[in-house]
Amino acid sequence: MKRRNFFQASLGAAGAALASTSVQARPNLEPAPQAVGMLFDSTLCVGCKACVSKCKEVNGMPPVPMGSEVHADFALDLSPKTLNVIKIYKDGAAAQKDREQNGFAFEKRSCMHCVDPGCVSVCPVSSLTRDPLTGIVSYDADVCIGCRTCMTGCPYNVPQYDYDNAFGKIHKCQMCNQKGVERISKGGMTGCAEACPTGATLFGSRETLLAEAKRRIALKPGQVYNYPRGDVRKPASFHEKVVPQYQSHVWGEKEAGGTNVMHLSAVPYDKMGMPPLGERSHASISEGVQSTVYSFMALPAIALGGLSWIVKRNTENASKEGEDKS
Ligand code: SF4
Ligand code: SF4
Ligand code: SF4
Repeated sequence: MKRRNFFQASLGAAGAALASTSVQARPNLEPAPQAVGMLFDSTLCVGCKACVSKCKEVNGMPPVPMGSEVHADFALDLSPKTLNVIKIYKDGAAAQKDREQNGFAFEKRSCMHCVDPGCVSVCPVSSLTRDPLTGIVSYDADVCIGCRTCMTGCPYNVPQYDYDNAFGKIHKCQMCNQKGVERISKGGMTGCAEACPTGATLFGSRETLLAEAKRRIALKPGQVYNYPRGDVRKPASFHEKVVPQYQSHVWGEKEAGGTNVMHLSAVPYDKMGMPPLGERSHASISEGVQSTVYSFMALPAIALGGLSWIVKRNTENASKEGEDKS
């Protein structure tokens, strides 16, 4: 077989394979049928950190001390000792709450329990899983191999690896429903929502929380609204407050496929430290590319098959010509 024929045959076979293959991105996952979550309304948060203390109590985690002061929690960010933290946005003189300019606002950081979680998608051993019914994203330390890939798959920088421990594992909020805690499966609510005195952290079904969030956005700024506390489906109490000028969308309704923990704010979300995200989940994109890459791995085999057939045909033709001449 001539070299030119060899290249023609190779390209022909590869082209045929390419034509039959295209980048197939799977769609975002839909919210779980009985998805539960939380709504954090920054305009209701007074920065008391009762949610941080309760989270540590529920999860058996120590406070983060400052110097010799060990009776309060000084956690400034998520860590292997802190699954839920309250951060502060400040601008200029920080004179007025929930104002972008010369104002301040409180922001909660914890696992967002993504509808289509990147951490679950990238974990090679399924140590992180999404509950098919409630959508809660859980972590199994017994399965985890400590590769930390989940840290790269999370758009919110949530999974925290315990570098101080020789057998360090990942730490993240499991919506108070892990083995030994099981508040949600027993009909309860998350510790942070239970402890929150203002209803800034509200528990409930994702559907009801989303409807509540949209209701608040549609209210007229300046009117008085009765804000629920605890579980939005059976509030422990209500309290009246003047409605602020909310940002016009609910963070987590659609971002990166949506989240079960959603946020409301008067200050723009990017100023509150939220990452720039489109509506496609990272998991749907990366799994689409992955499946395409794997299908492209078939190319060499297909090209080799084409070549073998052409070589066989040419060899047969050559033998036939030889026989005819003799
Ligand atoms: S916020 Fe991060 S850790 Fe939590 S479910 Fe989403 S991807 Fe996973
Ligand atoms: S749901 Fe539980 S673990 Fe998660 S932040 Fe709230 S109290 Fe902490
Ligand atoms: S308990 Fe409620 S009001 Fe207090 S810091 Fe946490 S979210 Fe804010």
